[in-house]
This record gives sequence, structure tokens and C-alpha cells, in this order.
Amino acid sequence: MGYVKGLRCKECNKEYDKLPLHVCEYCFGPLEVDYDYDTIKTKISRESIQAGPASMWRYEALMPIDGEPKVGHHVGFTPLVRAKNLGKVLGIKELYVKNDSVNHPTFSFKDRVVSVAISKAIEFGYDTVCCPSTGNLANSVASQAAAAGLKSFIFIPSGLEAGKILGTNVYGTNLISVKGSYDDVNRLASEIGAQHNWAFVNINIRPYYGDGSKSYGYEIAEQLGWKAPDAVVVPVAGSSLITKIYRAFKEFDMLGLIDGVPSKIFAAQATGCAPVTTAIKNGTDVIKPVKPNTIAKSIAIGNPADGYYGVKTAKESGGYGEDVTDEEVVKGMKLLAETEGIFTETAGGVTVGVTKKLIEQGRIKPDDLTVICITGNGLKTQEALINEYPAPPEIEPNIESFEEIFSNSMMV
Ligand SMILES: *Cc1c(COP(=O)(O)O)cnc(C)c1O
Ligand SMILES: [Zn+2]
Repeated sequence: MGYVKGLRCKECNKEYDKLPLHVCEYCFGPLEVDYDYDTIKTKISRESIQAGPASMWRYEALMPIDGEPKVGHHVGFTPLVRAKNLGKVLGIKELYVKNDSVNHPTFSFKDRVVSVAISKAIEFGYDTVCCPSTGNLANSVASQAAAAGLKSFIFIPSGLEAGKILGTNVYGTNLISVKGSYDDVNRLASEIGAQHNWAFVNINIRPYYGDGSKSYGYEIAEQLGWKAPDAVVVPVAGSSLITKIYRAFKEFDMLGLIDGVPSKIFAAQATGCAPVTTAIKNGTDVIKPVKPNTIAKSIAIGNPADGYYGVKTAKESGGYGEDVTDEEVVKGMKLLAETEGIFTETAGGVTVGVTKKLIEQGRIKPDDLTVICITGNGLKTQEALINEYPAPPEIEPNIESFEEIFSNSMMV
């Protein structure tokens, strides 16, 4: 517990103390957490991890907190599902779904980053936590702030799904809807943060927040039997998750917990908001901000904070990036539900649609051990599917009524 040396600039390597900082004052590069890997190496093993709790906190030695986690004790260790039916449809021999649509407590991978960020905020002595959010972060911050007994302020773009709004309000938070896109909300939140001494989980404590995502990668490797997969398809918003999954595999390799990282990392976005995959396709690491227009609202960030590193991860790992239309997103959601019985949100539809495309392009091979990242729950984005199905047939409560529709062959 507590192997953090401090923060370090990702660009110029300047070192900083463990403080609520996120930008290098010399080169404006992003700061990241600097761990004492030499000591960690002597403290953890496959066995010690397996003896830990069935949550993301089994990897506590690699998390950026000093004491015990203060909140989110049950987050993570979600199922890695062998997806034989979907694999057959897509033409992949060994396909897995890492299923954070059932993460505790708010059904998305954001519970991982938030449990770390709020634990860290409490260590720093804050009594109020905040975030700009596309929806899932809002749910998780409101929930875990309530559980931790902290005040919270949450800023969202107007027009979010009803499930995301109610799923934030229910925890008794201060929810504020901003007329504009997520990128407008994010800019405003930075200004508010300069006025008030609050912990913005994805702004002033972003370096700590981001490392919660590493647990998603650790779990994939452990659940595959201590190995990294050949291919991973990741839905991308700000590019935090995609960079941290790759980082997690690299750390496990460096610590001798797995043997090598063959993983090609693929970025998945919606065509209506694809700044990262567009840069990858164009062979540049310069992100051109876009104005989002897609039903995949949870990943609709037009000016991604870590976009440059998202592109770099895909390139360095031998992966690629693709995007799919809203129509393909809906098809992807239905395909996952009908083959594997998993109801994911629009971001998951993006992942499935992009995976299909990458296989058709030959970028993912039939023999590649492939993991697709399902990061959120379909009950939160019902708007995307609500017009896909007619009302169910209504019958009288007797057997004749049933036999009538049954013989009309209305059944699948
Ligand atoms: C936030 C989010 C992502 C991607 O997050 P990054 O900002 O790229 O780390 C993916 N899926 C869902 C459902 C999300 O809410
Ligand atoms: Zn720097």
C-alpha cells in the first residue's frame, strides 16, 4: 500500500510532489503518477493478487492512493465472458467480452476511475467533488460522493439520455445542465475549478483518476490466465481508458506477472465524433477537434484531453482506429444482446460495430485472441433502441389467445 513517488511530466519528465496537479508548469504536458516499481516488484506476485479481494483493489499496490480506499470497495473484477456465439458470427476463434456493463455501483467502467479519484480527494482533504461528464462519470461521481458523505457538483451537456440524468439525480447531488457540447462543459468546469477549492475528478486530480482505468487491463490479463491478448478493441472518448489498458499490460510484463505484450490496441469511435480514429487513419498525431453529433453520447468528446496519447497507443501497439455510423451502433447493440445476452449502451454498440469492421478489413485475424471492451449498460441509453421494437402483442389471459398468436407465427 502506497508506492507512489510523486507525479512526473509525461513530456519533459519534471518531477512533482503528490499534489492535486495535472499540468506541467514548464512545458504544459500532462502529469502522470510515478510509482516505485522496484519495491512493488518485491511485494506482489500472481499468488498475492489472487489472494486479494474480488474487486479492483486486488491491485491496490498499483493504484495511486496512500491509505486504504475510502469508497468503492466493491468496484471491478467484472466478468470476462467467453463470447462463442458472437465470435462465430464475426469469424473469430477466441473472442472475449470484458463486461463492465455490470460494474458496481453504477454499471460502467467509470466506477473504477471514480473510486480512486474520490479516495484521493479525501486524502487531499477536499469536502466537495465535481466533474464535467458525458453521463457515466456523472452517475458514478454522484453515487460514490453520496457513499463517501461528500458534497458534489456535476456538469453535463444539455440533451443527455433520461437514464443518465435520473441516474445522477437519485443520489442527491447538484446536477447542472450546460447549454453546449461536452467540450463547452469541460471548459466551463476548468474555470469554476479556478474559483472554488473543489476536487474535479477528471481535471485537477486527473493523473490519479486515470490510473483507476489500469485495473480494467490488469483484470483482462489475469482473467485470461495471466497473459495479454493479441487484440483489444476500446471505445474512446478522452483517450484515458485506451492508454491505461496498454499501460496495464506493460506494467504486468515489467513486473514479471505476464510474459510479453503482443496486444494490438484498436480505438473505436462513432463517425459523428471521431477525432482520434480520424487522426489514426490519416497517419498523424495531431488531433483536429470536431463538433459531436452521434447517439453514442457517452463517448462524444470532440476535443479529447489525451487524444494524442490515444493515437500513440494505437500506433505503437500495431493497432488501428475505426468508426461506425449511428445505424451500425444500433446494429452492434442488438448483435451483442442477441448473441451473448448482454445489453450494452451505445458505446458498446460502437465497440461491436468497429470490431466487425476491423475483422472484415483483416486487421484482426481469425486466430487473434481478441477482447472487446464493453464499458456501459444499455438500460441507461434506451432512447437508442426504443423505436426498434413494436409494442408486444397483448392477449387475453387464456390459452386460446396465446395459441392464436402462436399459430400466426409471430414468434422468433
Ligand atoms: C467514458 C467512457 C468511455 C471512454 O472513456 P475515456 O475518456 O476514453 O477514458 C468508454 N465507454 C463508456 C461507456 C464511457 O462512459
Ligand atoms: Zn513538462
